[in-house]
Amino acid sequence: MLSCLIENKPILEMKKQHIPPRKRFALWLAYKGICCYCKKPVDYKDVWIDHILPEHLLKTPEKLKKILQEYELDSDFDVEDYCNWIPAHWRCNLEKGGTVFDKGTTRYYISIASGKVTTAQEKELRVIRELERGKLLGSLEIALSEGLLSKQALITILQQEPSPKVRIEPIIITFGLNYYDLWESKLCPDWLNDYDPSDYPIVCDLLEKDLVKQLKSLLTCEFFYPEASGRNGETLSVRLSFMQLDEKEMRRFKSNWWEILEIASYSDIYGEFTEYQST
Ligand SMILES: [Zn+2]
Repeated sequence: MLSCLIENKPILEMKKQHIPPRKRFALWLAYKGICCYCKKPVDYKDVWIDHILPEHLLKTPEKLKKILQEYELDSDFDVEDYCNWIPAHWRCNLEKGGTVFDKGTTRYYISIASGKVTTAQEKELRVIRELERGKLLGSLEIALSEGLLSKQALITILQQEPSPKVRIEPIIITFGLNYYDLWESKLCPDWLNDYDPSDYPIVCDLLEKDLVKQLKSLLTCEFFYPEASGRNGETLSVRLSFMQLDEKEMRRFKSNWWEILEIASYSDIYGEFTEYQST
């Protein structure tokens, strides 16, 4: 009991972190419960989600912009996302606090985090699905935040087979555009002037990023890539998988170059929806 009370200190501190519990849990699962700094196991109840680029930089956008430039990171790098989060022991994180690592160290940790983004997103969807199934409901979150549930018990719960009756299927939307029509169009994005049609891969990357950014701003639901985009040199098609898509929100989607080519249920395209496979 005493040790439990002592260990509650980081839990209380942990609550100050505004990262939603499902994301915190997904991140911890994605790293298999290992602290990114000391490489030793860390219990869920003790894990601290560290921002590689400290979140206080969000309060000084100019400083953040300068660092992103200096560190050769994307200008739209998301400080508040899996690409910038790593799980660490409370104590391992204490030493770092709000300091900004040097370029090499930052890029090293960001490369680790980037490699975990897809897995973390999949784990998160899985957690959401478990919660939606009503099996865990609030009890999971309470148990987790109070440190009452062991790592093994949680893993066991998450490994249980979902009930087929209440399986919630994602919606798959395919977005497409004709690459050369885009160049001829007067409505093309402004940044296109910095490139020419031979920059197909770079321009495709940027178009996809724009699309994801726009969708993120419109939608409250989670979405991810179920497969890589289709690029044949003439067209670009992007399939995205949406969990619990709100149609009203989606109707606000407007684009001068993207066209919605198809809306389908997950099983229509990929067969029975069972669970997310880790890549
Ligand atoms: Zn550690």
